[in-house]
Amino acid sequence: MGVASIFLLVGCGKKSEKGNHETQVEVTTPTEEFTSMQMPGVEQIEVDVDLDAAVERLSKAVTYKTISNQDRDDFDTEAFLGYHKFLESSYPLVHKTIKKEVLGEPRPYSLLYTWEGKDPTLQPALFYAHMDVVPVPEESRDQWKEDPFKGVIKDGYIWGRGVLDDKNQVHAILEAAEMKLKEGWQPSRTLYFVFGQDEEVGGSEGAKYIADVLEKRGIERFAYVMDESAPITPGIFPGIKDNTALIGIAQKGFISLEIAMNGEGGHSSQPPEESNIGILAEAITKLEDAQFPYKIHPAVRHQYRYMGPELEESLQPLYAAVAFGKDDEMTDLEQKFIDEMATNQVTRAMLHTTIAVSMFNAGIKDNVLPPSATAVVNFRPMPGDTPEVIIEHVKKAIEDDRITIRDISASTPATNIADPNSDAYKVLEKTIRQIWGNDLIVAPFFVIGGSDSKHFQARDFAPDTYTITAIQLENTEEFKGFHGVNERILVDEYAKSIGFFYQIFNNLETLKK
Ligand SMILES: [Zn+2]
Repeated sequence: MGVASIFLLVGCGKKSEKGNHETQVEVTTPTEEFTSMQMPGVEQIEVDVDLDAAVERLSKAVTYKTISNQDRDDFDTEAFLGYHKFLESSYPLVHKTIKKEVLGEPRPYSLLYTWEGKDPTLQPALFYAHMDVVPVPEESRDQWKEDPFKGVIKDGYIWGRGVLDDKNQVHAILEAAEMKLKEGWQPSRTLYFVFGQDEEVGGSEGAKYIADVLEKRGIERFAYVMDESAPITPGIFPGIKDNTALIGIAQKGFISLEIAMNGEGGHSSQPPEESNIGILAEAITKLEDAQFPYKIHPAVRHQYRYMGPELEESLQPLYAAVAFGKDDEMTDLEQKFIDEMATNQVTRAMLHTTIAVSMFNAGIKDNVLPPSATAVVNFRPMPGDTPEVIIEHVKKAIEDDRITIRDISASTPATNIADPNSDAYKVLEKTIRQIWGNDLIVAPFFVIGGSDSKHFQARDFAPDTYTITAIQLENTEEFKGFHGVNERILVDEYAKSIGFFYQIFNNLETLKK
């Protein structure tokens, strides 16, 4: 997962934040119907897990350096093959009973498990997690209290790269499946487990390919798809101290354009009126000035419908206006919400397709005028902003025929929106409360980054994709372990992750479709 993808939900005016929002809302909106959306009456349960053995397995998993480097030639096939073998020996019943395929294009190192259900008329469900991890930069190595690839078990934690992101989910899913198989259980609906090889670099080899495969196999609709996102954490929603479980219901897209000026080079002693670098720089400046307009995404409306009633009362008219707003009209309160969100670069990203100039190249020598200059601009599109729309926008902004524009990414569109009022969402919320209790807020949210499930959720067959990492963290400090130093997981909380997947297998049985 991308860490930045979590802190996207900063709203304005949280219960616990004082002084930042002196401007009180003057207009009042009737908010009688703005009642709590939190699910009442769920009883907490305890799932019996053979924890010592499970912890040994997750600890060992860390020792396989299944790293995704930006340089895709730097790929450790042995690490992946070794890890696959390790999974096979760790979960014998899974590998005896459930069909496993090793897939991926051009490199096949991702895993697709098909656990045949008893009733072929029921829609299948899919659990996604990724096997790859981000590298540990040499500069940060000495900040690790334990070796990042040894899987040390100490002070009640398992330490190492991947124990939060995302091997804990791979293993929790497989532990739960192994437990179920030991009981002789078989799901009613077919369950797929997909474990990707390259989530940390966009998932084009693994997740995207497997989404293609499943589409070609004729699956019309998944009843439920689950993938990582934010872990359950007190304070994960900035300003709210309460323990919060955020469920991603939509993800932005991804596209990178190369913007180039190809002209003539020359000697720097006799420069032309305009240099290639100057022309490109001007084009980029014009593009940055032509920001995409702000709008409130439906997923943001859902988010505030669920979170709003739990936040500060004086601001509820504002949240109600966002929650109940219509896409074709903009009220003063919604405008006020947008104005506040736009002051912060994180929350601003929820409001429009972002433009990020990420690379700029030209020139090799001080006395040579380069014949070309190129820039790469990365966009994170809102729904509707297709590559065609974005390229048109860029052309119009730059207004210079000398500049060429080229899509250099395996671009992905913004995804569908999962319905937070669906039975599938309710199954997820219920399971969260059964495992972690009722002393937390559960709310949908709009993911401005995105994880591998975007390759599924962008398609017609998987709108009902819900993203959350099923692990409880103690505080936001622990969250820094994602892609950072001292990634570690509490052993006791890992037990609950396993319990979560065990229980959601049960709860999915209640879905009608
Ligand atoms: Zn991840």
